[in-house]
Amino acid sequence: MSANTAFEISVFPGDGIGPEVIDPTVAILQTLRDRIGGFDLRFRSEAAGAAHYKETGTALPEEAMSRADKADAILLGAMGMPDIRYPDGREIAPQLDMRETFELFAGVRPVRTLPGAPVPLGDPRAQNLDFVLIRESTEGLFAGRGKTVFDGPADRPTAAHDTQTITRAGSERLFDFAFNLGAKRKERGHAGQVTCIDKANVIGGFYFFRQIFDEVAARHGVSDPAHMYVDACALNMVRRPWMFDVLVTENMFGDILSDLGAGLMGGMGMAPSADIGPRHAVFQPCHGSAPDIVGQGLANPTATFLSAVMMLEWLADTHGVADCARAGRVLDKAVEVAFRDNGLVPTEYGGSSGTRAITDAVVAAIADGR
Ligand code: ATP
Ligand code: MG
Repeated sequence: MSANTAFEISVFPGDGIGPEVIDPTVAILQTLRDRIGGFDLRFRSEAAGAAHYKETGTALPEEAMSRADKADAILLGAMGMPDIRYPDGREIAPQLDMRETFELFAGVRPVRTLPGAPVPLGDPRAQNLDFVLIRESTEGLFAGRGKTVFDGPADRPTAAHDTQTITRAGSERLFDFAFNLGAKRKERGHAGQVTCIDKANVIGGFYFFRQIFDEVAARHGVSDPAHMYVDACALNMVRRPWMFDVLVTENMFGDILSDLGAGLMGGMGMAPSADIGPRHAVFQPCHGSAPDIVGQGLANPTATFLSAVMMLEWLADTHGVADCARAGRVLDKAVEVAFRDNGLVPTEYGGSSGTRAITDAVVAAIADGR
C-alpha cells in the first residue's frame, strides 16, 4: 500500500445521542489524520435510523447501504427510538440489518478500565481490567428474531417457541477469530488465553459449540482449551474479572455479558465495540440512542472515541498502514490521559463531566502529545 492510503468511512450518526457522540469523534479523527499524515480518511455522512424512517418511510436507504458496502469501514452512533416503530410494532434497528447483510459475525467488546475513571468494583485490580469478550452475532438464539412460533389461539396463545441455531461453519469462523485475537494479544504481553463460555451441561447445542471450540483450539495448537459455564462467568466477571483474557460466546449470552462488561468499565458510555465480518466492519459504542438524555450535552463520548481507536487499528491491520495504527495509539493514549489527569466523572456515573468536558480533555491531550 502506498504511503497515502485513502480510506472511505461511512458515518451513520443515527438517532438520539448518536450525533452528539459521533460529531466530536469525526472532528478528532480529522485532526489526527491532518497531524499524523501518511493516510487519508474521507467521511461520508449517511441519514438512517428511526427519525429518518419517521420522515421518509425508510429506515436504511438502499443508496446508503450500497455506499457503506463499498466503504472501508463504517462508523455508527446509535439507532432506534422507543416511540418510533414499524407498523407491525417491531423496533427500528438498521444496525441489526447491517449485521445480517454484511455477516458481521464477530462482536468484539473490549472490557478495559481507564485508570482514574470511576468503576464500581473497589478491588484495585478492577481498576486495571483489560480483557475482550467476543460475541457471535449472526446465529444462536437471536437468529430466530421475529420467527417465534405460538401454539393455541392467536389472541391467547398457550405457548411460544424460539429456536437456537448453532452451525459448524458459524462456530468455526468465530473460534478462529477468537484464537487469532488471543495470539495477537499474547504478542502484546497479555495471557492470550481464550475461554469458551457456554451452557454445555444443559443444552445440546452448546455441547456442540464446545466440541467445535476444542477442535478449533487444537488447530491453533492449544492443547488445554478453557471453558466456563455462562453462570459461573457472570459470577467471576463480578468477583474476579482480572482473571479473563479473551472470552468467546454465543449471541444472547454475549449480549448480556457485554452489558455486564460495560458496567465493570463504569457505564455504557465507556464501552466501545466492533462488529467484524468477512469483508466489512462496523464500529460503534455499545450504548443505544439514550433518548432520556438527548440534547442536554450529557452523553459520554468515550465509548465512541474508543470505537474509533478500534477502527483505526482495524484499518491499519487489514491494509498494513503503520501511520493509521499510530493515529489509533495517539487517540487511545489521549483518552487514557484525559481520565488520568482531569478527574473526569461522566454524568451516568453521577458526575458532571458531559460531552464537552470529556471531548475537550481528549483534544487537549492530543494537542499536548502527553
Ligand atoms: P438499546 O436497546 O439500543 O440497547 P437501551 O434501551 O438498552 O438501548 P441505552 O441507550 O443503551 O439503552 O442506554 C441505557 C441508559 O444508559 C440510557 O437511557 C442513558 O441514561 C444511559 N446512557 C447510555 N449511553 C450513554 C452515554 N453515552 N452517556 C451517558 N449515558 C448513557
Ligand atoms: Mg441495551
